Amino acid sequence: MAFNDGKTKDPALASADPEIARLIEEENRREHESMRLIASENYASRAVLEASGSCLTNKYSEGYAHKRYYEGQAVIDQVEELAIARLKTLFGAEHVNVQPYSGSPANLAVYLAFCNAGDTVMGLALAAGGHLTHGHTVSITGKYFKSVPYGVRKSDYRIDMDQVRALAKEHRPKLLWCGTTAYPRTLDFKAFREIADEVGAVLAADIAHISGLVATGVHPSPIGIADVVTSTTHKTFRGPRGGMIFCKKEHAAAIDKAVFPGLQGGPHNHTTAGIAVAAKEALEPSFKTYCQEVVVNAKALGEALVSRGFDVVSGGTDNHLLLIDLTNKGLPGKPAAQALDKAGIVLNYNAVPFDPRKPFDPSGLRIGTPAVTSRGMGRPEMERLATWMDAVVKAPTDESLLARIAGEVKEACGHFPAPGIRL
Ligand SMILES: *Cc1c(COP(=O)(O)O)cnc(C)c1O
Repeated sequence: MAFNDGKTKDPALASADPEIARLIEEENRREHESMRLIASENYASRAVLEASGSCLTNKYSEGYAHKRYYEGQAVIDQVEELAIARLKTLFGAEHVNVQPYSGSPANLAVYLAFCNAGDTVMGLALAAGGHLTHGHTVSITGKYFKSVPYGVRKSDYRIDMDQVRALAKEHRPKLLWCGTTAYPRTLDFKAFREIADEVGAVLAADIAHISGLVATGVHPSPIGIADVVTSTTHKTFRGPRGGMIFCKKEHAAAIDKAVFPGLQGGPHNHTTAGIAVAAKEALEPSFKTYCQEVVVNAKALGEALVSRGFDVVSGGTDNHLLLIDLTNKGLPGKPAAQALDKAGIVLNYNAVPFDPRKPFDPSGLRIGTPAVTSRGMGRPEMERLATWMDAVVKAPTDESLLARIAGEVKEACGHFPAPGIRL
């Protein structure tokens, strides 16, 4: 058989490249049999995967709809226009660019659109839950721009808006980022807007983690408040791996030019199609229910962990993730994450604010509920997760315990088919 007819499982791949076919099969199984709690991950639907794995990958289409540098765009223009129209409806945005290859390139486009090398930028420090691309020293954004990071308060681990204001007034940033990768609390976009206006900064909101929650009103939206909003498409949004940028009309030309030809060549049209499908799914009422459940589950898991003596940073969560400081458990984050992985519970070790330990061996764990919620898991499963996590953290080297829990996790997962996963 020369191609995948869609009826059987990837027969073309299995015959052309059995090694890769086997590895994909293994990953399918791992994603089915484990509790995936990495806060940035999810399960894209079969429909999203199908669109993303389509012949659209073959087409070059540098430029934008009806202004391309290659012929043969009759179909691609419609795909991109559909994706944009759906996202405009979903987010209430004036302008959308769906071409960024991922979240990081979307953020680079913002720098290119609004800044010159050497300009001052501000963002939440990585150690406090910010993203590399908001000016961290090892990132190009920290090397080519003068980065002034802000942090969270020691008293309650919330972003310290007084510090943001004081630093902004002192350093007069060209660009002010609000957006997080490991922060469990609601972002106050209006407060950031006020500060940006006081110092004449461009306000960029990065909703990579929370875009699903924002689309459904489960988290307040920065659209119409921030000058520009960036996001990934594969976290709570549950689409293919990609990026998107929303902005006011007045910035549309600058953003589009920054993405192409400023940073990128041809857009990944198969990804654009996957984004369009994800946007259609996100417009369904069931997606709002899903996003609400993500937060309900995160809160439930947080409460279940607190009741087992876990130190949940800031005392809980408003969104899809929890940060746990394991210091009181006498176990650093990395060996905890590794032991949990052996038990079928997959998450990542993470620095906690004011972490005395090194970033590669920090004190905490980050836990997210988007993927398990996509499988329909609820409060009973959150309780079980907390029980398993408690047992693993108490005896991280007890291999027979880890194996027993991995078996229980696998059995539990069997009752919750994962979207997109075909065994
Ligand atoms: C994940 C993330 C990104 C980067 O996304 P990639 O697709 O991994 O490049 C950017 N900003 C924030 C806040 C993120 O959480």
